[in-house]
Amino acid sequence: MTGGAEGHPPRELVSVTEIRRHLGSRLAVTPSIEVVGMGLSDVRVPDGSEIVLTGEVESISEGVVLTGTVAVPWTGACRRCLNDVTGVAEVEVREIYETDPVEGETWPLEQDHIDVGPLLHDTALLALPLAPLCSDDCAGPAPGLYPTTVVSDDADLGEGDDAEPPRDPRWAALDGLDLDEG
Ligand SMILES: [Zn+2]
Repeated sequence: MTGGAEGHPPRELVSVTEIRRHLGSRLAVTPSIEVVGMGLSDVRVPDGSEIVLTGEVESISEGVVLTGTVAVPWTGACRRCLNDVTGVAEVEVREIYETDPVEGETWPLEQDHIDVGPLLHDTALLALPLAPLCSDDCAGPAPGLYPTTVVSDDADLGEGDDAEPPRDPRWAALDGLDLDEG
C-alpha cells in the first residue's frame, strides 16, 4: 500500500461474514461514498454528494457477487442552451469479489468484507453524461438564428462535380481477399 494518494477513492466496507456461511445466501446492502472534486470538464458531481448503490450481495463459491444500481447525481451545462442542468445517472452493476481476484475483472475479497469504494468511484466517473441536455428537445438559445440542423456555408462555392464516383462493387469484393501469390 502506498497510501495517502490524492484522489484515492474512499473506503466503503461491506461485511460479508453472514452470507459467507451459506452458499447462495443474500443480503440487501446500500453502500455509499461521499465525493469531492469528481468531474469532467463540463459535468461534475456536486461536492459532498453521495454515490449510492442499492442492491445485494450473494455468496457464491468463489466469493461474493454484488449486484445493484448505482445512483450518481451530477450537474453541468446544457450543451445547446448552456443553462444549468442537473440529473441523476443510474447504472446497473454486477461485480464479483473473490479472494484471488483477476486483474481488471474481479475485485478483492478481504477476509470478511469487501471494499466497494473503488467500484462506486469508477462507476460514477463512467456514468457522467458527456453532453448533457436540459431536455431532449432543447432547441438552444435562439432556434430561429441557430437552427440545430447545420446548413453548409460552402453550398454555393461548388466548382463542378468533384465528388468521387461510386466505387465499383467488384473492387470492394477484392478488398477482402488475401492476394498472396504463394
Ligand atoms: Zn438546453
